[in-house]
Amino acid sequence: MAEVKSRCDIEEKYKWKLEDIFKNDAEFEAAVSEVRALSKEFVKFRGRVGEGEKSILASLRLSDEIGEKLLSVVAYASMRRDEDNDVQKYRAMAERVGDLESDIMSECSFFEPGLVAAGIERIRGFFEKEPALFEYAHFFDNLFREQEHILDEKSERLLAMSSPVGGSAHDIFSSMNNADIKFGNVINEEGREEELTHSRYGIFLESNDRRVRKEAYNAMYAQYKAFKNTFASMYSGSIKSDLFYAKARGFESVRDMRLFDGNIPSDVYDGLLENVNHGLSALSEYLEMRKKVLGVDELSMYDLYVPIVPEDREEIPYEEAVEMVLAAVAPLGEDYVSDMRRAFSERWVDVYENRGKTSGAYSWGDNTTHPFVLLNYQGKIEDVFTLAHEMGHAMHSYYTNKKQPTVYRDYKIFVAEVASTVNENLLMEYLLREATGNRRAYLLGRKLEAIRTTFYRQTMFAEFESRVHGMYMEGTPLTAETLCKVYGEINKKYYGSVCVCDENITYEWARIPHFYTSFYVYQYATGFAAATCIKNLVLENLENARRYIEFLSGGNSAYPLNLLQGAGVDLTCADAVRSVVCDMEKTTKELGDILDK
Ligand SMILES: [Zn+2]
Repeated sequence: MAEVKSRCDIEEKYKWKLEDIFKNDAEFEAAVSEVRALSKEFVKFRGRVGEGEKSILASLRLSDEIGEKLLSVVAYASMRRDEDNDVQKYRAMAERVGDLESDIMSECSFFEPGLVAAGIERIRGFFEKEPALFEYAHFFDNLFREQEHILDEKSERLLAMSSPVGGSAHDIFSSMNNADIKFGNVINEEGREEELTHSRYGIFLESNDRRVRKEAYNAMYAQYKAFKNTFASMYSGSIKSDLFYAKARGFESVRDMRLFDGNIPSDVYDGLLENVNHGLSALSEYLEMRKKVLGVDELSMYDLYVPIVPEDREEIPYEEAVEMVLAAVAPLGEDYVSDMRRAFSERWVDVYENRGKTSGAYSWGDNTTHPFVLLNYQGKIEDVFTLAHEMGHAMHSYYTNKKQPTVYRDYKIFVAEVASTVNENLLMEYLLREATGNRRAYLLGRKLEAIRTTFYRQTMFAEFESRVHGMYMEGTPLTAETLCKVYGEINKKYYGSVCVCDENITYEWARIPHFYTSFYVYQYATGFAAATCIKNLVLENLENARRYIEFLSGGNSAYPLNLLQGAGVDLTCADAVRSVVCDMEKTTKELGDILDK
């Protein structure tokens, strides 16, 4: 393997241009001082936010300005650090702005309670006198909606003080899961002993050598089984803590509290589970095909991740990847394509790995320049999909920032993964249009795995969470035994018609970090369903594409479901989920036909 380059050896055109935010570190420092000064100004509104239309508008505007400037310094410092984590100067800078952020948050915490104290009727009464306030109508709507669940100052302070205790279950889980637990060694494909770690587990499970897959699987679960009571205590501790906060804020359940954040009706959650359950036969058909192609007597849980068609290993130069993604998003219209082209010509993207660079990929940035994208591009087809994905996020931010006033220049997680998945879907469609033979089979196999892991598997997780929380609220103690029983039942429902669901898999709940952020994972499935619908719609005509761009431009100016409705997706009915199930059926059939030949 080639040695990883130093950052200074990477050509400039492959590095993002953070100078667009601040020309140099001196400009950054000046902005930090400015944020501090503005927050001093802002504190003068304490106790008089709701005095009249002038003070309300002035405080809102100043709050927007502070938020925007703060984001610029935070984004700049963090992204500088991500360029090379060995540079102490930027590490210190990032840490410093982290502190600045929490200082400012606490200094300005009087603001929203101040608005609330003024009362929604009184504030709405000011709109006529000060029409500029109309811009904030949705902001107020949401603020007063949340109000019902905000406690008096003393209770809020108590809740804030308790939060480090409340998060301890997750902290303990992380320490145990990432550091203390050891999984021993596995004999790899070459016959050498290799330590089993979380990241190598994924690689072992994709091995063509079944013995390797089985060994890794057994070694992994042996440890979760050995510590089953500890993991059960941690997880139930996390549920108890979440329920405490939910009840304290007047919610019936943790699920209600989580859904409330995006104003998502519980029907959407229940509908997802119900409709996916109706579509389980499509998953079974895929599993049947997998079993047949792998040529195994019994399909085991450790046979699920190995690609059924060998990976296409052709290296794709970055420039080619860029053109592929641009061609793939053409159905979104000329403007979208030319706006995205700017990202490449104006250096929004940090392309290659270098020593010390943060791993993985993300899209981020401030709201006043343009989004930035961090990649660690290696030239695999995987990386081209990552590029499409992150560019989806970047264009979402770009359109939102272009269209929305400061107060709405953000978006909820519920809609975020729609923008990225639409681009991945379009890339898949584009590649399939030209692909034949083995390459086509490989892509179809990849598509099926994306549906299985993002849509079915995350829904299965969502079902488990719902069941377990329900049990706890009904008084069933959450022990290793009860958790394994429920997990085993649900896993069997999803996989049992084809797979052998052994005892090991009943411990899977113990190793899923996302369960410590309760009722989060269902959004992967709803996002995937919405993205599948949108992909189908935009491939139909340009008018649908225009509505989708409108959705991307919506930011936080409306609630997620309303934004999606604007793009033609209604997550309150079964169609979106059905469109994924349909896709699964069609793709399985096509791949089956190719492989039969
Ligand atoms: Zn994403």
